[in-house]
Amino acid sequence: MIENPAPKRTELSELGEFGLISHLTSDIKTIHTSTIKGIGDDAAVLENGDLLTLVSTDLLLEGIHFDLSFTPFKHLGYKAAVVNFSDIAAMNGSPRQLFVGISVSNRFPVEAMEELYEGIKLACERYQVDLAGGDTTSSPGGLFISMTVTGVVSKEKVVYRNTAKENDLICVSGDLGSAYLGLLLLEREKKVFLADPTMQPDLEGNDYVLERQLKPEARVDIVKKLDEAGILPTSMIDISDGLASEVLHLCRDSNMGCMIYEEKIPIDISAGAIASDFNIQAITAAMNGGEDYELLFTISMNDFEKISQLKDITIIGHITDPNAGCNLVSNDGVLVPILAQGFNHMREE
Ligand code: ADP
Ligand code: MG
Repeated sequence: MIENPAPKRTELSELGEFGLISHLTSDIKTIHTSTIKGIGDDAAVLENGDLLTLVSTDLLLEGIHFDLSFTPFKHLGYKAAVVNFSDIAAMNGSPRQLFVGISVSNRFPVEAMEELYEGIKLACERYQVDLAGGDTTSSPGGLFISMTVTGVVSKEKVVYRNTAKENDLICVSGDLGSAYLGLLLLEREKKVFLADPTMQPDLEGNDYVLERQLKPEARVDIVKKLDEAGILPTSMIDISDGLASEVLHLCRDSNMGCMIYEEKIPIDISAGAIASDFNIQAITAAMNGGEDYELLFTISMNDFEKISQLKDITIIGHITDPNAGCNLVSNDGVLVPILAQGFNHMREE
């Protein structure tokens, strides 16, 4: 008997999340002229008369993307919706409709799902989005949440992640690293609690980083502010996986390099102290943490004066020739190549 050779088996961890996406999708071609942008940005871009429709989808799994031992259902619902709105903001658009798929095991009572929906409804109300449909199934275990959001942007104002130009200024909104530090705190307190359930969580004085982790916001306010100031970013992406990973996406997709300056990276004052508690530097949390959901964007140097007038936006560097690579200038003046070490769920730690 001739035995069949063992079928080829490649581990997912060899490719990682982004490697898998490009492996599966690199040969996909769109056939409709109405599909202006398919795979490859924060949202797909579809023709819609004088406007463009934006569509983005995200899947969240219990145990991978959220831990119900420290995430209240209401916060989970709010966050799941808001992170989708963030992808629409990253295209310079406004969110409009939300579709929610849930797969839920009978481990959960109706009341838990009510709380989840309170959070989703609150996000929809705050961001003026219509909850317009979805799907519900039972799950053999655990909770799965799939959210799809649509948005709208005018044709002249859509901003992609692959259009940064040499010498453009690189900007970020808000501050970075706090959401990851919030997660470290919650995970530490969970361990303490599991070891001794009589221990009360010691989360005093850490409100800011906890809020950044549990209740992020989508920066649609920044989209509006830039528009009012007459600034159209030359490229934009939202920071879901840490600054390093996102700046690399933006530069690689634009075929550019960059220089960013450690001293310019905005970090909240409370983050430094909390980071040192965990023996890490706040800059590491900003570069390689995740879930800050701030906007990373580039602008033409001609807009320098205008952007300098705006609060809550920081210029952190500039776009360079691709041959220069992507580099961080550390506080002691050393040039460090930027490597992606953000959350990449399929890579083994
Ligand atoms: P983001 O972090 O902004 O949500 P992702 O990194 O998840 O974006 O996805 C990058 C691009 O790849 C997007 O255009 C997304 O629609 C697409 N994509 C992700 N997973 C798949 C998949 N399984 N099949 C097809 N396209 C995918
Ligand atoms: Mg995104």
